[in-house]
Amino acid sequence: MDIHEHQAKEIFRKYGVPTPNGYVVYKPDNAVKVAQQLGGDLDVWVVKAQIHAGGRGKAGGVKLAKSTEEVGLLAKEMLGSTLVTHQTGANGKKVNRIYIEEGVNIEKEFYLGMVLDRSKEMPVMMASSEGGIDIEEVADKSPEKIVKVAINPTIGFRGFYGRKLAFGLGLPREQVNKLIKFAESIYNVYMDYDASLIEINPLVLTKDKTFIALDAKMSFDDNSLYRQPEILTMRDLTEEEPVEVEANKHGLSYVKLDGNVGCMVNGAGLAMSTMDIIKHEGGTPANFLDVGGGANAETVAKGFEIILSDPNVKSIFVNIFGGIVRCDRVAQGILEAAKITNVNVPVVVRLDGTNAEEAQEILANSGIKNIIAADSIADGARKAISAVRGN
Ligand code: ADP
Ligand code: MG
Repeated sequence: MDIHEHQAKEIFRKYGVPTPNGYVVYKPDNAVKVAQQLGGDLDVWVVKAQIHAGGRGKAGGVKLAKSTEEVGLLAKEMLGSTLVTHQTGANGKKVNRIYIEEGVNIEKEFYLGMVLDRSKEMPVMMASSEGGIDIEEVADKSPEKIVKVAINPTIGFRGFYGRKLAFGLGLPREQVNKLIKFAESIYNVYMDYDASLIEINPLVLTKDKTFIALDAKMSFDDNSLYRQPEILTMRDLTEEEPVEVEANKHGLSYVKLDGNVGCMVNGAGLAMSTMDIIKHEGGTPANFLDVGGGANAETVAKGFEIILSDPNVKSIFVNIFGGIVRCDRVAQGILEAAKITNVNVPVVVRLDGTNAEEAQEILANSGIKNIIAADSIADGARKAISAVRGN
């Protein structure tokens, strides 16, 4: 799960990470008031679109204002508009809230990020003197300009980690301890909140020589949200794919993809291999869908509904392994679900495991024309792909 810049900055402040003062605004009418609250005599205010995507600066989503009146005008322009950045996709994202903060006198822009390195099995902190611009490009063209330290969580953040980062950035002696303190606080935020990513681009050195997080991006491990109630309150469902949100409500994990073979599978591992096999057989999966352990009529019906909400879907491959769940029950569920949801594309069904034979019989005798039985995953994949082609 992701949160907005203004929410990440709120968390940073709790941990003593300096950020510019700012307020979030949902209605243009509040913008001028907020700008005055920040200090009517500021030289510069910054109006920032709050969307779950970066690259706002280049796309007109970060604008400087020289007066409180200008803040009001920019707010009116930005709120409700659609912002297209290189991270939003062509459709862009609607701006429902903006952040108004004080302008900072920038001496230099750095980059600081933290992610989990699965091969090292440790969180890694990365810093670069080439901040502000596309860090992906720096990583690509001049990787030597990014310093990385893997932080052993058993001993926690230590000074030597921070010094390695600071020296790697070429900081003068008097700034080293400031950066170490900053980095340590970020490490604490990352660990305490079960973050999967923190990105501060740019981390700014101000003219009066303090480090400030000028931008803030945070993502969290969904599996830990149950113990992060504060983060859950920050969820903004308008930023998420509506179908995925709907699926989650019913205990289904759904990820939309751009192929045309819909997939309904129980278990994430089987769902992944089903997609692989469809690819291997020359087709393209329209989605990932894990209906979970209990594939009953209700979940299967919801699954059909969700898969069919994608107009690209030309056939559905149901691939269920009956371990605890019995295949005959699933077959019954598929028939009931097919009646409720008016499934108008061919449905290829492969059921294996407990009571698989009974299940085959139920499907064979169903009298429903668009249900096609398959006896292996590969057979199912081939039949589903062939159904897409109208055979
Ligand atoms: P994005 O990464 O989405 O483009 P940023 O928050 O990084 O958005 O802002 C883009 C650029 O705008 C920054 O690199 C910085 O130069 C400038 N900027 C952003 N916030 C401020 C601020 N409070 N004061 C001065 N400049 C800012
Ligand atoms: Mg940025």
